[in-house]
Amino acid sequence: MKKRIDDLAIFGGTPAFVESLHVGYPNLGSREKLLYYINDILDRRWLTNQGVYVQRFEERVADFVGAKYCIATCNATIGLMIAMKALGLMGEAIIPAFTFIATAHALQWQEVTPIFCDIDPRTHNIDPEKVERLITPRTTGIIGVHVWGRACKVEALTQIARRYNLKLMFDAAHAFGCSYQGRMIGNFGDCEVFSFHATKFVNTSEGGAIVTNDGELARRARLMKNFGFADFDRVDVVGINGKMSELSAAIGLANLESLKDFVNINYRNYGYYQKYLRDIDGIELVLFEDCQVHNYQYIVIKVDENVTSLSRDQLQKILWKEKVLARRYFYPGCHRMEPYRTRFPDAGVELRETEKLAKSVLCLPTGPAVGEVQVNLICQIIRVSVENGVGVKRRMDMAAEGESYVKEAAR
Ligand SMILES: *Cc1c(COP(=O)(O)O)cnc(C)c1O
Repeated sequence: MKKRIDDLAIFGGTPAFVESLHVGYPNLGSREKLLYYINDILDRRWLTNQGVYVQRFEERVADFVGAKYCIATCNATIGLMIAMKALGLMGEAIIPAFTFIATAHALQWQEVTPIFCDIDPRTHNIDPEKVERLITPRTTGIIGVHVWGRACKVEALTQIARRYNLKLMFDAAHAFGCSYQGRMIGNFGDCEVFSFHATKFVNTSEGGAIVTNDGELARRARLMKNFGFADFDRVDVVGINGKMSELSAAIGLANLESLKDFVNINYRNYGYYQKYLRDIDGIELVLFEDCQVHNYQYIVIKVDENVTSLSRDQLQKILWKEKVLARRYFYPGCHRMEPYRTRFPDAGVELRETEKLAKSVLCLPTGPAVGEVQVNLICQIIRVSVENGVGVKRRMDMAAEGESYVKEAAR
């Protein structure tokens, strides 16, 4: 129980947990099935190069999202790079600044300049109203990111892309198993890219996929992921090695079969967080629309420091001392990381909402290692800290001053 300030580990209390609770603890399906698949792969002695497991995985993913083509890749970053190249992106492409750095790097890696757009604070996604202003004669594409699995404003972005004759793709790394207006993500824009990294909703350990309904684009992407090989001894385009291995596909297949269990666990935890975070002034849980299908993979809170007195970073420190490894996401924003920080030193001026959000968001643990008992305890820590925000902040500030004094004196 965490009832008083002195119960907090940061002030000498016993940590709430013995084992650390992680954000992005991997979802795993049936071990029996996976081991069966792995044995089968070993019997076949076919470990990669578009084997039957990768083919089957691609079919299942395409079926599940209701899209025509799925091209599995070794990870989403390479998937994004291939998709961007297959779409012919050059010059500049517009992306949100509030995303994982891979969205920007995948462009920059092939000398396409990412132009950072601000987000809509209500959705945390790229703001279509701000996209248009960033379009220049060099712009060739727009890349939306479905942050936390909540879909971008797809229609507005589609209209802008049509009007200016731009390519439109989505980084759907967070959004496998989510829908937008009754249609599964994977069907929007020219293509969408999923991540199957270990921390994502469905994982293949490392992995990703390009999903599209455009046959020609699918053909190009498929060539590119295999060095450009169109046949034995025949190379048609510049390619890379973006292949998914059979072992990864086996993990993915086993996990797909447990997808419903993953959602149920996440949804259950989301409900517990709603229950136990209720009425804490200054703490807002990011909610998901009930009318959409969702994976509930991310439990996200926003800390309003004006109300809590405590900063998001202080709350994170408190949670870490309790062995709750809450994570800041997309902090400090892509535009504040290299090489973009040096290239666009003033980008922050136009990215007000991104900067505000990056300073206030905290992701909390969910998934199979977490249940009602854990959520209750995590929320007690947050409640005690925030409801005594002024006092907690004072003690933390004093301790920090003490620390720097000791460091200074030791010099
Ligand atoms: C995880 C993630 C990626 C990268 O995926 P990998 O499979 O790890 O390469 C890209 N974009 C976003 C938004 C992500 O969350």
